[in-house]
Amino acid sequence: MTQYLFAPAPVPSLAVRGVDARFPVNRIFCVGRNYHAHAVEMGRPVDKSTSKPFYFTKASSTLVESGATVPYPAGTSNYHFEMELVVAIGAPGFRVKESDVQSLIYGYAAGLDMTRRDLQLVARDQGRPWDLGKDFEKSAVCSQIVPMGNLGVLGKGAINLQVNGQAKQTADLGQLIWNIPELLADLSQYYHLQPGDLIYTGTPEGVGAVQSGDVITGSVEGVGSVALTIGAKE
Ligand code: MN
Repeated sequence: MTQYLFAPAPVPSLAVRGVDARFPVNRIFCVGRNYHAHAVEMGRPVDKSTSKPFYFTKASSTLVESGATVPYPAGTSNYHFEMELVVAIGAPGFRVKESDVQSLIYGYAAGLDMTRRDLQLVARDQGRPWDLGKDFEKSAVCSQIVPMGNLGVLGKGAINLQVNGQAKQTADLGQLIWNIPELLADLSQYYHLQPGDLIYTGTPEGVGAVQSGDVITGSVEGVGSVALTIGAKE
């Protein structure tokens, strides 16, 4: 048996609806600018005919389960929510055809890609990596996973988010610039997708800042809901 100098970090995992076993999370991929109105509000419109999807990652250790209270994070004064559909991968896939992506999908979840927007935009505008803005502790919030079952490859359904009960984001999965088959086919050109990988598929328009004491709730039709409470500043 391997001896370690100190206890290894625990395996990040999520509950699965209707199943006792938990879903062990491997990597977390996030899609940038995947709804036109959000791309416009960020000042970077997307022309699908001349561009491809792009990605950033969050360490699996940033995962937080829905219902948590997280501290208002260090180093920011513009802490934003982004409501997203999450695709949970359940089978390996490399260079997968769009017509074959369903076999890779274990299920879906409702997620929040929490963002230190001020740090992200400084990095973006200076051509630097987004890590400080995106890949920070407790920034990947996720609901329980819903097995795909009869949902199939989701192509439409309401996605929305509220802060303290007030609507902030209201859209439909049908507005994704790159849909699930296109995303999995493209991402698998660059990575060997593995069971346990999560893909945050991008956020619609209406992103905004939250403060200590705020309660975020969001949902994806047919998948479920996610909630997060913002605690005191660290
Ligand atoms: Mn996002």
